[in-house]
Amino acid sequence: MQLSSAQKALLGDYIHADAAPGRFAVLNPADGSTLCYVQNQGAAETTAAIAAADAAFAGWSGLTAKARSIILKKWNELVLAHLEDMAMLVTLEQGRPIKETRGEVTYGASFIEWFAEEAKRAYGRTIPATLPGKHLQTIKQPVGVCAAITPWNFPISMITRKVSPALAAGCTVVIKPSEETPLSALALLTLARQAGMPDGVISMITSTTAKEVGEAMTSDPRVKKLSFTGSTPVGKLLYAACAPTMKKVSMELGGNAPFLVFDDANIDDAIEGVLASKYRNSGQTCVCANRILVQAGIYDRFTAALVERVKAMKLEPGWQEDSQLGPLINQKAIDKVVHLVDDAVAHGAKVATGGHVDGQGPLFYQASVLTNVTEDMEIFSTEIFGPVAPLFKFDSEDEAIRMANDTPFGLAAYAYTRDIGRAMRVASKLQYGMVGMNDGVISTEVTPFGGIKESGIGREGAVEGLEEYLSVKYISYGGLGAI
Ligand code: ADP
Repeated sequence: MQLSSAQKALLGDYIHADAAPGRFAVLNPADGSTLCYVQNQGAAETTAAIAAADAAFAGWSGLTAKARSIILKKWNELVLAHLEDMAMLVTLEQGRPIKETRGEVTYGASFIEWFAEEAKRAYGRTIPATLPGKHLQTIKQPVGVCAAITPWNFPISMITRKVSPALAAGCTVVIKPSEETPLSALALLTLARQAGMPDGVISMITSTTAKEVGEAMTSDPRVKKLSFTGSTPVGKLLYAACAPTMKKVSMELGGNAPFLVFDDANIDDAIEGVLASKYRNSGQTCVCANRILVQAGIYDRFTAALVERVKAMKLEPGWQEDSQLGPLINQKAIDKVVHLVDDAVAHGAKVATGGHVDGQGPLFYQASVLTNVTEDMEIFSTEIFGPVAPLFKFDSEDEAIRMANDTPFGLAAYAYTRDIGRAMRVASKLQYGMVGMNDGVISTEVTPFGGIKESGIGREGAVEGLEEYLSVKYISYGGLGAI
């Protein structure tokens, strides 16, 4: 499956039909074909983009919030006007089913819309003075040039979730999208330019030398903030690299989400929750249910019902309209899933369904359920990032909470119970930045997304998302006389 002429039109001069030095191939994970080639940029281009962002900062931050908002709204409209082509670009370069990638485009656009609105609400405060003749005030100002490094699993929304609040606040941005998914990122850039985004306000670095680009970003004193979404090890490296210039950072890192199902849960609802939270994007999201903890009284009933539903899921190339699961992103992802399943089985887990790479291609992994999974298996402590649901058994609420919190990660957690007291206790005790209580799909543009512990720092979306790109300045006006 190849790019259509409408998709190519969105990518313009950013893409090339042929291999050449200084270019890299963008692959279709479903069939291994090459979609096109893009520029392989490095430190020099990154530094030039930072210089352009620095030069554009005064003009962009000097606009009224409303003027910036108008451009953002136009960008949102253009993204939605190209929904189908943008969605197919994501499906082609990432593998995800088209039904889901349409959602990725509207979800991505929702951040542009939200922050276009929030741009106008970067309020400061007036604080009652402690001495006569003084006026105490805070104002919010854009932090400056920002760098954003994004992953491949939500190739549109991970960009818009960072870039829209940055732009709304008055910052300029240099983005490094994942080398796996540069096409949807470049299409976003085309539409931003069409919306009237001035030169230098957004730049994009497509690269296979992430380390080199990251170093150019983190070492440059003109960059005042780094926002990163990706793996915890890379996040730690980047956090350290930001220390010498004391950059502000936001880090959205790995998770190990527990999904608790209590005896008193509505089982049908819990099954829907697991299906949504585990198998969406073939299990390749940082808020995916990673450990499904089921209370002993319903374990067998829950397992049977889940397995029946999972068996019926359609694993097919993402461009087929009824596809529910596509290929994983690359061989490394497959190797990890195979290893985790093998380790679990070697230690006594049972494969209730799936458990193998599928015959239709090397990157297709079957929707799988493992039972009899225990805490000594690697899958308990490792983010799977694949369509495998490991089912653990617990007896008491205390045991469930202990198991759920037994991880250095703290991004998202889920729990299903119809007991109001238990719901409130459990929500409070789960050591996570986000909790879905009787809810398997929690991400929205209007709520703060982010983790605690080793899952990260900062929040994206919501009112909090704008604050990440603003500095608070306190101004004390003295000598005013009686006011
Ligand atoms: P994943 O395993 O999900 O790809 P990564 O953390 O490796 O997660 O990648 C997320 C983003 O971070 C991608 O854009 C990738 O290119 C980038 N990246 C990976 N390693 C580095 C690094 N050393 N410095 C800067 N960016 C990096």
